[in-house]
This record gives sequence, structure tokens and C-alpha cells, in this order.
Amino acid sequence: MMKLCEALEVVALHRGQRIVVATMSAAGEWPKWSDTPLDFIYIPSAMGQAPSLGLGLALAQPERGVLVLNGDGCTLMNLGCLVTLAHHPANVFLLIVENSLYEVTGGQPTAGAGRVDFAALAKAAGIERVYRFDRADAWRGGAAEALSGPGPVVVSLQVEGRIGQKTPKAPRPMSEQIARLRGGLGFTPS
Ligand SMILES: [Mg+2]
Repeated sequence: MMKLCEALEVVALHRGQRIVVATMSAAGEWPKWSDTPLDFIYIPSAMGQAPSLGLGLALAQPERGVLVLNGDGCTLMNLGCLVTLAHHPANVFLLIVENSLYEVTGGQPTAGAGRVDFAALAKAAGIERVYRFDRADAWRGGAAEALSGPGPVVVSLQVEGRIGQKTPKAPRPMSEQIARLRGGLGFTPS
């Protein structure tokens, strides 16, 4: 097991110029590592939809690529996204932060906690590049390979659950976030 902050530190080292979409637990922590126009903190979110948002961005910006920081609970909410990612190849790197908890709603155990194998689910959905890391040193050593090359890629990250977390707050209003991302991608304000 690794700590969420250890997992995200490694992501920050390897994200390059790609877009990062962060949701759930990671949304509250990611701005500590990066808060540029290419960092999209998905709050408020439609739970489970960050991979779909990431896929849309990656299809629209094929040369750039997108990293999606997702939770295990919200991945369960939209398991079909794995099949969709496999069916529409794009440079999406789906990182599933697995803490076996619905952390932002108070730390309830996820359905299937300790039994569901997200890496196996991703493979069964047809995604060929799938990685799983349960220790920070292994993730540090493997991230360069996992977070390079063509997508889709799914990375399962086993992190320690935290009980009693506050619900993450958006760093700025959604309209401002969207405008900021558009600016970061070179679109002029409309
Ligand atoms: Mg979770």
C-alpha cells in the first residue's frame, strides 16, 4: 500500500504536458502538486464520468493526451467506461486510485472491496496496457513505462484509505475552470 500523496507525487513527475483530470479523493490533493490551466479539477462532478470526459478530451487533442485520476468507487459507478476506452483507442491514461472506500462521502467500504480486481476488469474489457502497483517504490520504478507510449492505459494504484476526510472543494468555479482549460489548450475566449 502507498499513501495517496506518494502516488500523486509520481504522477506529477511523469505527466509532461498532458491534461490531468482529477476527481474524488485525488481532486482534493492534486492542486498541491500541480495547478496549471491543464489541470482540471472535476468538482462538482458527475460521479463516474471523469474517464468519459478524459476520452473526449483525448480524442479532440490526440497529440496531447490525458491522465485521469479516478477513484475505485467512481470507477464502479461507470464500469462501462473500460469497454468504451478499449473501443475508441486514444491517449487516455486512467489511473484508478484504489482505497476500497467511498472516501469523500465519509469512508464507507466500496462494493466488492478486497475482491474486485480492476486491472483484470480492464484487461477483460479489451485494454491491452494495464498495470498494477501496490507499493510506492514499485510505482516510482514503473511509472515512466506505464505513463508513456500510446493509450489507452489503465493503472491500478493501491493506496491507503483515509477515514474522516472532508469533501474536496473546487479550487475555482467550474465556468472558470473550463475557460482556463480552453486557454491552456490554445483556444481564445469566446
Ligand atoms: Mg475510493
